[in-house]
Amino acid sequence: MITEVAASVISSLRYCGGVVGRSLRRPQETDTIVLMAIHPIVVYGEPVLHRRAEKITEFDDDLVELVKDMHETLDASNGVGLAAPQIGVGKSIFVFDADDDYGVRHRGTFVNPVLIASKVPDTRPDPDDETEGCLSVPSLDFPLKRADRVTVNGFDESGAPVTLSADGWFARIMQHEYDHLQGTLYVDRLDKRWSKKWKKAQEAHSYNQPGLSWMPGVDPDPFGH
Ligand SMILES: [Zn+2]
Repeated sequence: MITEVAASVISSLRYCGGVVGRSLRRPQETDTIVLMAIHPIVVYGEPVLHRRAEKITEFDDDLVELVKDMHETLDASNGVGLAAPQIGVGKSIFVFDADDDYGVRHRGTFVNPVLIASKVPDTRPDPDDETEGCLSVPSLDFPLKRADRVTVNGFDESGAPVTLSADGWFARIMQHEYDHLQGTLYVDRLDKRWSKKWKKAQEAHSYNQPGLSWMPGVDPDPFGH
């Protein structure tokens, strides 16, 4: 039996039974209890989002745990990618879970990634086709031109090398997440026209000060998913 206190902890951390995998059922005494934490997502203005992330030097159990938490948080947020600074951890890690333009799902992790991109076209972004959003800039989206092709080299959480080449939508996700690790958010890259609109919205939402965050799975989904 679990106590009320334990139950309230479990309601705020997602519970995973050892055998059944992801589950929201209550723990049984025979289960291997693995608690995976969903972390609050910090919002534009929080200093950790605006500085370069530190490289990982130890591929240890703590890293494995952190990456698990990041995947849990990404799932709960209905996002397609999440970088460690977005949960307040200034480390060079991002996770992703999204379909590419060919309907193939990619779920994975990059630790200490290096991204090589093709040239960003010098044309205006198409608002219907090239609009981006960010979990750390809740409820807003803006058009942004991105490189069409990228290759990302890095490691997974066990330290094994990972290489991924992508184009289109998926290449956009890779650039967005990689940017987070440089301390850059997509709204920092907007062209003049969209930057003006962003500045207004930023003021209106108070996305210009530290201390704001939201809790995936608890607070209303800022993108209405
Ligand atoms: Zn983002």
